[in-house]
Amino acid sequence: MKKIASIPLADVERIEIRVTRCQKTLSKVKAESGADYILNGGMWNADGGPCPLLKVDGKMLADADYDSYGYGWDQGPDIQLTPSMKSRNFISCTCLIAPWGPVDKPGYHEKGQGGTRGRSAIGLKAGELCLYCSSDGSSDARTPEGLRDELAALGWESAVMLDGGGSSQCDFDGQAIKASRKVHNWICVYTKKGGVVPPEGENTMRKQYTVTPSVGVNIRKGPGTGYDKVGGYSKGTVITVLEERDGWGRTDKGWVKLSNLSLSTSSGGSSTATGRKTDTGVPIKEMLVAAGRKNRPGGANPCTYITIHETGNKANGADAEAHGSYVRGDSAEASRVSWHYSVDDDSIVQHIPDGEKAYHAGDGANGPGNAQSIGIEVCVNADGDFAKAQANAASLVRLLMKEHQIPAANIKQHHDWSGKDCPQTIRHTTGAWDKFLDLCKGKSTTPPALVADVDVLAGAGIVGSPDYWKAGSGYSDGNVVCLIHAMAEYIRKEGN
Ligand SMILES: [Zn+2]
Repeated sequence: MKKIASIPLADVERIEIRVTRCQKTLSKVKAESGADYILNGGMWNADGGPCPLLKVDGKMLADADYDSYGYGWDQGPDIQLTPSMKSRNFISCTCLIAPWGPVDKPGYHEKGQGGTRGRSAIGLKAGELCLYCSSDGSSDARTPEGLRDELAALGWESAVMLDGGGSSQCDFDGQAIKASRKVHNWICVYTKKGGVVPPEGENTMRKQYTVTPSVGVNIRKGPGTGYDKVGGYSKGTVITVLEERDGWGRTDKGWVKLSNLSLSTSSGGSSTATGRKTDTGVPIKEMLVAAGRKNRPGGANPCTYITIHETGNKANGADAEAHGSYVRGDSAEASRVSWHYSVDDDSIVQHIPDGEKAYHAGDGANGPGNAQSIGIEVCVNADGDFAKAQANAASLVRLLMKEHQIPAANIKQHHDWSGKDCPQTIRHTTGAWDKFLDLCKGKSTTPPALVADVDVLAGAGIVGSPDYWKAGSGYSDGNVVCLIHAMAEYIRKEGN
């Protein structure tokens, strides 16, 4: 017999390591703690003391002079696989799936842990906390390597085997494997009651990237080239970025520059045309989150406000369709993340109908940001043109203002709802938000002389997209080079 639980991290209120020093049974722990999920924890010695490494609520109970991958967390939803014991809680035993993949030769004592036995494990998969328990002596008993292969096949992105054999026991929301053994410590998971609080979109996007340069990329100690190198990833490696800062992404091994990576797009499919267009002719495509997904909560959105975000994702390829693929996938559903539109420098893709709520603003399930606004993510991918993406977003805002009679005063930043530093680039560029609002109001901020000169060049056939040049700033290097060639060609032809 075996039991497997997958709990969205968004639903996790708290994870506790409950120490009972081999004096309490599972049913007693369940009655006393009221936890929703309970699993036997780490191993212990004959004298009843815990085996390394174990830290509980800030207290080091079993330290060692070596590092080992284990799970660390402060409250619970922040749990991650790490070699560091900095968090308030840390538990380790035998790492089966490491940041680089399944471990070839998991480290364990053959006598104490080897053979085919009941097994317990904890892991993470696409925004979910995963717990595993199989009963000793049953047909589901496994060797550590067999367990590793089973968990990898289940899609676990990381995994640590806990104590096993006769200690294997669990109660996963009523689904129990019972054993009489009283173990040293228990992993107790408490889920949120009375509804899940949706998180802020950009924080929870755990993204898969592929290393693109043929020479690979350096891994550094911090987010910048001034930090020491600590290793490298070779071309083609697929890595998970846990956090992004200043154009750098943190993996389990260190920091890498995002412009050296491409977003690995997965199962989300591609967009379909709708026929809807903005006043600058940008087509609005659709990649809707399927009805019934947990990140498409439904409920009427009165479209009172428009909320502007930035994706915070500088990787090449992190465009509107890539974000559509993400928001339609399992990871966004497990983290309860969604928004209405993604906009890049040449397209607008819709994910949630305007008239429905979405989870992007970080102000709770019924906050005005989530429940009364239309969320727009502007893409900041390194291979895109951010000025054009902003112009496209402004054209979408104009359309939405018209369709839903939204006044300009109700165009908000994500920051207005939750205090998050989003949209970050715009917020950090002097005058950029006012300029964006002017664009939304249809006001041109371009000097009339520039407009007149662009018209002259357009009349002579030198520029083919006058609106782009009339926007007046943020020209891409490539377009300036093309303009220079076109002007030189014009002069040559005229024989001037
Ligand atoms: Zn945001």
